[in-house]
Amino acid sequence: MYSLMGANKAMREAVTSQAAQHDTALTAKVARIYALLVDTYGVPPWEPSGDALGELVATILSQHTSDVNSERAYAQLRTRFATWEAVRDAPVAEVEDAIRSGGLAQQKAERIQRILRLLSEQMGDAPLTLDVLNALPLEDALAYLEALPGVGPKTAACVLLFSLGRPAFPVDTHVWRVSQRLGLIGPKIGANAAHTLLLGLIPPEWRHTMHVDLIRHGRQICHARNPECPRCPLRAECQYYWALVATER
Ligand code: SF4
Repeated sequence: MYSLMGANKAMREAVTSQAAQHDTALTAKVARIYALLVDTYGVPPWEPSGDALGELVATILSQHTSDVNSERAYAQLRTRFATWEAVRDAPVAEVEDAIRSGGLAQQKAERIQRILRLLSEQMGDAPLTLDVLNALPLEDALAYLEALPGVGPKTAACVLLFSLGRPAFPVDTHVWRVSQRLGLIGPKIGANAAHTLLLGLIPPEWRHTMHVDLIRHGRQICHARNPECPRCPLRAECQYYWALVATER
């Protein structure tokens, strides 16, 4: 796990050092986009739960399903098992049964148990938690989570942002698409590199708001197909929009 942690961290540091070279024009553009997002969607409440392990399991359950289904699966898991140790030690079929409403139950049950066993190996007899993350710098906390089986940059960033109030920046499909169209990241930047580039570009105090508001924007206006550019409050800042205008001239 620790060599993987080191590899993830080294990759992130390499891209961060590239990101640090972006020009001041891009920094100013981020500030204007932030202001427009806040004008349009406001500053969402940021109320970290404090429970990183619960958030990690909830995030795994949320993959490839709706919020309603994954919340029901998480609630059923917590009702069925009194502790994370009980989830770890149960027959996998019982965990699978508890989370069935979240979809991909077999795959998710196996992944959750593998993570809990791995954490137990590291923690010995101590109660299962992810409290270790509190003491780590952000980069190390991200690398620690990404070294767990099946945990990628988005899940790691969600756990830190929403459970511990750490200024990570999860890049989901909406954030990725809108950031590319705006020109904050290049058209060929993959999701993993987008995490690191946007983390380097967006100041820590804006990350929660920009994450939430970019998702709202992607859902409400900047749809994957047929973005509603004529009514978009961000169009003056958008590369996609100006390219469209240029082709129509
Ligand atoms: S102008 Fe169009 S493409 Fe650009 S952010 Fe707005 S809706 Fe998306």
